[in-house]
Amino acid sequence: MTLIDGKATAAEIRAELKTRSSAFEEKYGRKIGLAVVLIGEDPASKVYVRNKIKGCEEAGIRSFAHYLPENTSQTQAEELVATLAEDENVHGILVQLPLPKHLEAERILAKIPAAKDVDGFCAENIGKLALRESGTVACTPLGVMELLKRYHIPTAGKNAVVVGRSNIVGRPMALLLLNADATVTICHSRTRDLKAECLRADILVAAIGKPKFITEDMVKDGAVVIDVGMDRDENGKLCGDVDFEKVSGKASYITPVPGGIGPMTIAMLLSNTCEAAERSMEKKNQ
Ligand code: NAP
Repeated sequence: MTLIDGKATAAEIRAELKTRSSAFEEKYGRKIGLAVVLIGEDPASKVYVRNKIKGCEEAGIRSFAHYLPENTSQTQAEELVATLAEDENVHGILVQLPLPKHLEAERILAKIPAAKDVDGFCAENIGKLALRESGTVACTPLGVMELLKRYHIPTAGKNAVVVGRSNIVGRPMALLLLNADATVTICHSRTRDLKAECLRADILVAAIGKPKFITEDMVKDGAVVIDVGMDRDENGKLCGDVDFEKVSGKASYITPVPGGIGPMTIAMLLSNTCEAAERSMEKKNQ
């Protein structure tokens, strides 16, 4: 079994991005910029935002952090995002989710132009992915594809099973695997025989949100197992959707939690930001 080291790969990517961001600065006389908007006091969101800002520093990207209080109004949030949309120093905008309950996330996210949507969540970017056009792809599934690529794990002709169909993970993941010529099955809470579906997987991606849900009897010998889950076990310890200890005995490759997909998600956010900046300058200079 080979452990897929997302932490080390993400560090490699940040180093590559530093070279890329320096080249951008030299060519255009300004830094690549990412605006991060955090509204409220959610402790997990604060940790994610801190890690994203730290990632920016390591990749030579300028970060603009906007911390708004819990009682921020819909109009204030929308106005901030609209201002960032117009700011020439900001090439990517990230609104950390979830937002406080009184805010309508869709209306706030709708203020992010597709060109600055470095999370790849907007309809235009998801549509481009579905149509196999170039656009910005959601960071977590993009991170999975990058790991498969860097570990030379082939996808063409393989049976890939994605458990989970959320807009931010499962769906784009399935589209990316399909675009990479895998034969893709998407499973969800209404799937009739999940175990039988999972057992057919050469590549199994778990994006469910339930601790240690994928057990060894659901995994084929030699399968590649990708664990997107970020859950807490019965002792409050961080774990994934896969029962790592038992499943690792069967898998040919497996990602750990932590140290697997999590750091790759941030690395892909930084990569998407570099790409958005380069695209915007190329467009301007056309
Ligand atoms: P989500 O929106 O809650 O989606 C979960 C999916 O799992 C849904 O499609 C749901 O099916 C399916 N599901 C739930 N119970 C199931 C069952 N018993 N059998 C089969 N499918 C079932 O979650 P998400 O946002 O995609 O996130 C999934 C996990 O990834 C979470 O642990 C999250 O924390 C983690 N995550 C990690 C990163 C990272 O950077 N590492 C990024 C994003 C998310 P239905 O559609 O039928 O309800």
